[in-house]
Amino acid sequence: MSFIIGKKCVSVCDTACVKSCPVDCIHGPIETNGAGEEVKTLDSVDGLQLFINPDECIDCGVCEPECPIDAIHSDNEDNMEQW
Ligand code: SF4
Repeated sequence: MSFIIGKKCVSVCDTACVKSCPVDCIHGPIETNGAGEEVKTLDSVDGLQLFINPDECIDCGVCEPECPIDAIHSDNEDNMEQW
């Protein structure tokens, strides 16, 4: 299991979640091994979003309440496809 970052993150890329993750498995929006740092260097995040590497996620749930727009959910939630 893993947590996932859903469509609400598109064009937002807040990065509050990145700082909360104890295993640094939240990446993007471009760098697959980055930690959201490039968000600060981009002129625009239009169409971009952060993502969680499911192979690295330990399913702790710490990031979920950190997202200000409720974009993070567990992949075992009911109706998960809506995210
Ligand atoms: Fe990181 Fe835990 Fe969120 Fe997984 S659930 S992305 S390990 S903070």
